[in-house]
Amino acid sequence: MYTVIKRMEVSAAHSLRLSYPSKCENLHGHNWIITVYCRSRELNADGMVEDFSHIKEVVKGCLDHKNLNEVLPFNPTAENIARWVCEQIPTCFKVQVQESESNIAVYEKD
Ligand SMILES: [Zn+2]
Repeated sequence: MYTVIKRMEVSAAHSLRLSYPSKCENLHGHNWIITVYCRSRELNADGMVEDFSHIKEVVKGCLDHKNLNEVLPFNPTAENIARWVCEQIPTCFKVQVQESESNIAVYEKD
């Protein structure tokens, strides 16, 4: 089994719709560190699990310097962002979204 890990920094804005009062409801920004884990039993014809630049294209291309509320069709919590990234890449099995030094969400496929 092969695994590749791609880490990227994504600067973006979001505001959260929550069921309780929170400062996170105001539009604000983060420099998210998004770590994408992909694996495959066999390498593709190019000898890769997944091209690192393809992963970057999907994640940074869609999210970097955007208002996430405008480009994602769900409440853009770190958890939801992690699941969305995982769903965009067929070989991906785990995504870590670090919102700040102390706040990290991880989504893993069952
Ligand atoms: Zn936030």
